[in-house]
Amino acid sequence: HELPGDPETANFRRQIAGACYSRVLPTQVSAPQLVAYSSEVADLLDLSPELCASADFTQVFAGNRLAQGMEPYAMCYGGHQFGYWAGQLGDGRAINLGEVINRRGERWALQLKGAGPTPYSRNADGLAVLRSSIREFLCSEAMHHLGVPTTRALSVLLTGEAVIRDMFYNGNPKAEPGAIVCRVAPSFTRFGNFQILAARGEIDLLRQFVDYTLRVDFPHLREPSPEVYAEWFQEVCRKTAAMIVHWQRVGFVHGVMNTDNMSILGLTIDYGPYGWMDNYDPHWTPNTTDAEERRYRFGQQPQIAYWNLGQLANALYPLFGEAEPLQAGMKAYAETFDREWQRMMSGKLGFASYRPETDGELITELMVLLQRVETDMTLFFRRLADLITDSDDEVRETEVMALLQDCYYLPEQLTPEYRERLSHWLRQYRERLIQDGLADAERRQRMNAVNPKYVLRNYLAQLAIDKAEQGDFTLVNELLDLLRRPYDEQAGKDHYAAKRPDWARTRPGCSMLSCSS
Ligand code: AMP
Ligand code: MG
Ligand code: MG
Repeated sequence: HELPGDPETANFRRQIAGACYSRVLPTQVSAPQLVAYSSEVADLLDLSPELCASADFTQVFAGNRLAQGMEPYAMCYGGHQFGYWAGQLGDGRAINLGEVINRRGERWALQLKGAGPTPYSRNADGLAVLRSSIREFLCSEAMHHLGVPTTRALSVLLTGEAVIRDMFYNGNPKAEPGAIVCRVAPSFTRFGNFQILAARGEIDLLRQFVDYTLRVDFPHLREPSPEVYAEWFQEVCRKTAAMIVHWQRVGFVHGVMNTDNMSILGLTIDYGPYGWMDNYDPHWTPNTTDAEERRYRFGQQPQIAYWNLGQLANALYPLFGEAEPLQAGMKAYAETFDREWQRMMSGKLGFASYRPETDGELITELMVLLQRVETDMTLFFRRLADLITDSDDEVRETEVMALLQDCYYLPEQLTPEYRERLSHWLRQYRERLIQDGLADAERRQRMNAVNPKYVLRNYLAQLAIDKAEQGDFTLVNELLDLLRRPYDEQAGKDHYAAKRPDWARTRPGCSMLSCSS
């Protein structure tokens, strides 16, 4: 029977039943221009710096030319968006170019985002604008260097085309520069890839796709069988838990944790209206579309990941015919999350290990303190590492209090009652550290290895975007470089570790973002 998609007809939007993907071709663009590329990702693909600087590279990663062996396709998936089943979504503006097996034998899939429509584009244009492309490019790489599992980004290019995003901007359509990011990951498979097959009752295809995923993306597991399916689901649950713990550690809010944006490999995927918490606030979400319900707020990310895994479990149920193995996976999520979260928080606080008798309370009280007055989370944990325990109590505590001044956004919130409560917490914390007996220098080193100094604060990304829109890509490249070593002190770069300036509090792009991208 007819193949579900082919290059000639790729652009017409339709439901694709009975298939996991459709063959498509990227749209030709008029004037591709390189904005930045990641030398680390190029290296993963065995691409030399000379090649990355060449016109060939620009043509291929703008989608104008296919390299030998590339057979582009778009994937079919569905998803729950904001809690509701949305039916077929799919790669509406992502086009997979193929996979590279590098010199080390690793397999990497390459995907262009913004290279034109596919059968899955629904009512949208298949394109991406420069601002969201820079945000995806920089954040993918920053997350990787922070040690957070993530898809990577090879390149960001301008297409030379104008893309309309706001039809009613001052009464006229607003054109923005079009751009394309090349994403790189072992796999871009999402929970939604399985969900769409189950929703359509295509159970044979579902099994085929699960078996494919097992063989290709989970090669360490044995040949598919019911027990192996169960092991696999548990592994997906554990990987997802580990990823979320990392998000909570660094203060990252994904913003759109729909099931189509959940990677089967537990990678952070689909950088849209994500954000970094400046002041610690579990209720915060960067996504303006979610400002009412706040479903995807920072503090709810762990519960949402669990809910999403539940939806994946529902989709996989026909392969199991019983609930127990899937429930075991869900339990593995909860256990892994709790254990890893405690380990992570102990690490941030510099404890040798988690002590349930005392640490739960200390951590809870700290969370209350951090949100009671607007406190910069990133700065706070870096400053806390400077607490000295092997000297006189009172004096050192005052010193830390002085250091912490830098972390507060609204110093007028620092009431005497608050200061006393923080002071009390610091005394208890200091005692706890003394019990551990780690030397101050050793503890500081450990803390600074998990509490980043530099993160991609929303306003920093916005500054890089503002310049790039004027044709100046230096700040994009400077931030890319800075974020290669987020835990290190970097001479002359302290201004990038400063708290969010006041003007950025309300400026669009610097605090909250719409889904428009
Ligand atoms: P997101 O909320 O970014 O995860 O997108 C949800 C769905 O909409 C996915 O299927 C995307 O591929 C699709 N989509 C988002 N933006 C566009 C666009 N500009 N053109 C075509 N499809 C899009
Ligand atoms: Mg998406
Ligand atoms: Mg997106």
